[in-house]
Amino acid sequence: MDMERKACRGHVLVLPFPSQGHINPILQFSKRLVSKGLKATLAVTIFISKSMNAKTNSVDIETISDGFDDDGFTKADCFQTYLSCLKERGSETLTELIKKLNDSDYPVKCVMYDAFLPWALDVAKEFGLVTVPFFTQSCAVDNIYYHAQQGLLSPPPQDVSSTVSVPGLPPLEPQDLPCFLYVVGSDPVYLALVVNQFSNLDEADWVLVNSFDSLENEVVEQMAKLWRLRTIGPTLPSMYLEKGIEDDKDYNLNLFNPDTTMCMNWLNNRLSGTVVYVSFGSIAVLGVEQMEELALGLRMSNSYILWVVRASERDKLSNKFVDEASEKCLVVSWCPQLDVLAHKAVGCFVTHCGWNSTLEGLSLGVPMVGLPQWADQTTNAKYVEDVWEVGIRARVDDQGIVRKEELELCIREIMEGKRGELIKKNTIKWKSLAKEAVDKGGSSDNNIDEFVAQLVST
Ligand code: UDP
Repeated sequence: MDMERKACRGHVLVLPFPSQGHINPILQFSKRLVSKGLKATLAVTIFISKSMNAKTNSVDIETISDGFDDDGFTKADCFQTYLSCLKERGSETLTELIKKLNDSDYPVKCVMYDAFLPWALDVAKEFGLVTVPFFTQSCAVDNIYYHAQQGLLSPPPQDVSSTVSVPGLPPLEPQDLPCFLYVVGSDPVYLALVVNQFSNLDEADWVLVNSFDSLENEVVEQMAKLWRLRTIGPTLPSMYLEKGIEDDKDYNLNLFNPDTTMCMNWLNNRLSGTVVYVSFGSIAVLGVEQMEELALGLRMSNSYILWVVRASERDKLSNKFVDEASEKCLVVSWCPQLDVLAHKAVGCFVTHCGWNSTLEGLSLGVPMVGLPQWADQTTNAKYVEDVWEVGIRARVDDQGIVRKEELELCIREIMEGKRGELIKKNTIKWKSLAKEAVDKGGSSDNNIDEFVAQLVST
């Protein structure tokens, strides 16, 4: 035990926001810290600990409470109630957990928490610990939220004819902004959540972002002037990038059960670049009409389709479609997304542009069709199309729906068109830059080494 204790260079307690898209990057980064000699413990909510399928050997798992231990956040009467309980019970149980770990052989040195949970800083400070907010969205999006928090978004996004300027970002049309800034007043609770990320950021010791420098150089530089901010991404499992951590092939904590064998067998029987992979992540809820248009557009594209429709969304898809399309289309409730994107059969990713999915598509070199639904996805889609030029954003009509003809056109552009050729060239460039970022000596790798070295010396 003494030897082990000596070998551990510091213990990081990691607090994710309780959703799949927030757990994946922070857990993955924790594994990287462990590979550099630190000890990491992930504190998930009790409800998540009951419903998850976790296979992490390197990262310990402990629990805190969000006040909904038995039934999860869907039992809260609204999202605001959930967030208040999470803060209240979360602070109490995080305090208890730190005390417990401090009585063990591995006292906590640092609390790394999702930037959606700024109250964790107050808890950590009471114990004199190093505080590290972890941003799971892009620097561009974070900078927009920061400017919103400071009342500096100009001109006001209500003016639909003008562009919005944010330092370090290209001019944005209002619809490129995160949705709750574009549709003013549309989601005040979520808006408060994202702007509150900056409420006590000045007190944090480090600010880490799941991005990499060459991806959004200018905005990273801008933000690094304000805080000790470093990019540490992309946080894909190592075997999909630089292969530096042996056997690291999975995020290791699933809240959904993937249909792995079915998906991979199906893909193995398809020729290279012939499959369109379609997924809207773990949260997005699509309208019935949008779902119908999607189904028709996907069929009209005449490609092979692997479509993830979560169980809670499945009622919106007619059995008639699934039966009629079965020759060319496989519908599953969840899939091993990284394996799917890395499979040579996949030639296009129809995505909601969640930040993890965007980074995964970009790092694995898959051209994208963006159908952003919510939150930061609109801004990510703007970057996919106009900044990195690795995909096309499907346009909505005046009812906010992507019609079947539009979807068909976007997919055909990628699979068969001239624009698709250019996009494919760009995906090769970005795939190699993503790998470079995490390779020894790449920007993210250097940043991680700097962070670890400083932590060890405190
Ligand atoms: N994902 C997966 N299987 C699926 C769909 C998604 O493993 O069938 C993973 C995906 O690889 C990503 C995460 O779920 O890491 C979704 O995160 P993202 O930020 O893209 O979207 P969110 O779910 O937060 O909207």
